Amino acid sequence: MELPFAESYKIKMVESIKRSTRQDRKKWIEEADYNLFNIKSDRVFIDLLTDSGTGAMSDKQWSEMMLGDESYAGASSFFKLKDAIKDITGFDYFLPTHQGRAAENVLFSSKIKEGDIIPGNSHFDTTKGHIEYRKAHAIDCTIDEAFITTLDHPFKGNVDLNKLEDVLKSHPKEKIPLIILTITCNSSGGQPVSMENMRALKEMADKYGIQVFFDSARFAENAYFIKMREEAYKDMSIREIVREMFSYADGMTMSSKKDAIVNMGGFIGFRHEEDYDKASVFNILFEGYLSYGGMSGRDMNALAQGLYDGTEFDYLDTRIKQVAYLGKKLKDYGIPIQYPYGGHAIFIDARKFLPKVPKEQYIAQTLGIEIYIEGGVRGVEIGTLLADRDPETGENRYPDLELLRLAIPRRVYTNNHMDYIAAAIINVYDRRDQIKTGFEIVKEAPILRHFTVKLKKI
Ligand SMILES: *Cc1c(COP(=O)(O)O)cnc(C)c1O
Repeated sequence: MELPFAESYKIKMVESIKRSTRQDRKKWIEEADYNLFNIKSDRVFIDLLTDSGTGAMSDKQWSEMMLGDESYAGASSFFKLKDAIKDITGFDYFLPTHQGRAAENVLFSSKIKEGDIIPGNSHFDTTKGHIEYRKAHAIDCTIDEAFITTLDHPFKGNVDLNKLEDVLKSHPKEKIPLIILTITCNSSGGQPVSMENMRALKEMADKYGIQVFFDSARFAENAYFIKMREEAYKDMSIREIVREMFSYADGMTMSSKKDAIVNMGGFIGFRHEEDYDKASVFNILFEGYLSYGGMSGRDMNALAQGLYDGTEFDYLDTRIKQVAYLGKKLKDYGIPIQYPYGGHAIFIDARKFLPKVPKEQYIAQTLGIEIYIEGGVRGVEIGTLLADRDPETGENRYPDLELLRLAIPRRVYTNNHMDYIAAAIINVYDRRDQIKTGFEIVKEAPILRHFTVKLKKI
């Protein structure tokens, strides 16, 4: 008999989660004005709001916490992290920051000015925010296949090199300070970029004399997909693949809350000393002195260990197979989800799931609320609420895809939890014909309304 899949870790410490009744949850979601961000976490049984900062640290990471050096300057924790970053990514220079968007803020302060053009693959929202805040423009060059949810393609995060070359040709070099490649591409559903695409992109960037930075929150999950899907890499270790990936970049920004499995932290990696020097000034201004930049010593220690934990094949195999395990359960039942399964989350196509709910009534939010009431499972809307209103017309913007994201925290839930999540969603799917109406807005903020919006049942 073939041995079945099993998690590559055992559990040393547990945290209780609270069951509740459907009546409780109906009351709680009403009290929360039908906003899932507004629910207290102890009223959630399984929390799939995000995989950011929600992972479980290992015994090795916790023991590193005790060895943290909290000296203001020259702390051993800084050098431990510096060595780990050099070892894993190959970058000689780095700046610690308190999280990923802080790394973007520091790097972009040193590189981007008004009117600049920043090509890339579906820039993440904070990345785009930091670009547009500087009155520069993010241009999405992702391959068209990425936007067809049912199409099977191994590397839906890839950049279309023709689209990229058009951008590079049609603007002067001085206007394009860098290209940003997001690995894996979060905004297109946690989809990976192939090594072949990274290599070709770097060659093209070199030809035009433009730098490449990787937005690297999920670089290890990307490396796993390269190993599994790109023939030439099947016998290479994750760390060898990671080193080659970063060899095609001039630097990186990192949200360590994802693949480095810490609850808070980030950094910028640099190949060139001039880039490091320029950014250092802004790091001191915005984050902290060069040797801690927004992180305590113990957190840098845990992050250094997390970079090793997160690039172990067995851990990645457990993680990505768990996400696929949930995806397969839903797909086999006929539930419309994005395919292939992403590295960190499963995305449900809410328009196809609830075809009777009008688009003006927030379909993905309606689905998220139904799933919460059904089983106490919290996902997040990636749809019309998130897309905000058009600043000119004040009308709702209806994005191409109306999705409910189920992000899986790292090393937190077991496959029994995945079974439970699938059952809750299947129950909602079985009664989808009775769900004909959604919600209307009672109160909303002018931007980023999804965090605080208040809704009313129609
Ligand atoms: C999470 C994330 C960021 C921002 O990082 P924070 O730590 O949340 O500030 C940037 N880029 C990508 C791809 C991300 O997933």
